[in-house]
Amino acid sequence: MQDNDTKAMKNNKKNDTEGCPCGNQKPYKECCQPYVEQLENPATAEALMRSRYTAFVLNNEDYLRFSWHSDTCPKTIHLDAETKWLGLSIISTEGGRVSDENGRVEFVARYKNSGKAVRIHENSRFTRFEDRWVYLDGKTSD
Ligand SMILES: [Zn+2]
Repeated sequence: MQDNDTKAMKNNKKNDTEGCPCGNQKPYKECCQPYVEQLENPATAEALMRSRYTAFVLNNEDYLRFSWHSDTCPKTIHLDAETKWLGLSIISTEGGRVSDENGRVEFVARYKNSGKAVRIHENSRFTRFEDRWVYLDGKTSD
């Protein structure tokens, strides 16, 4: 019993001190969690981008759909529990601020699946829809 308690405490502590899955130093609950749980809307396109990466890490399809423009959201989102996300780097942003209607975020995301390492370099477009940021589409490059 005591062992289990100790273990649970350790796990909680781990979650509290670890940075958010999106790579921010801030803990998950102070970073992407309010967005992923749809309690708050991200103020910027970059924050939305980060929360979507976190949703991929957590296999949260609901949030991916919620944060995707209804015109471009695919019928099927391929989430694979075997995918191990390794990190997100924001390369550049354009617009996407509180006062903007559109925004662009260039990023590199890396993951591993079946022992294969994959690097995604994408230029994503974001737009405001019903007064919140949503993902429109993206162009990948090498
Ligand atoms: Zn985050």
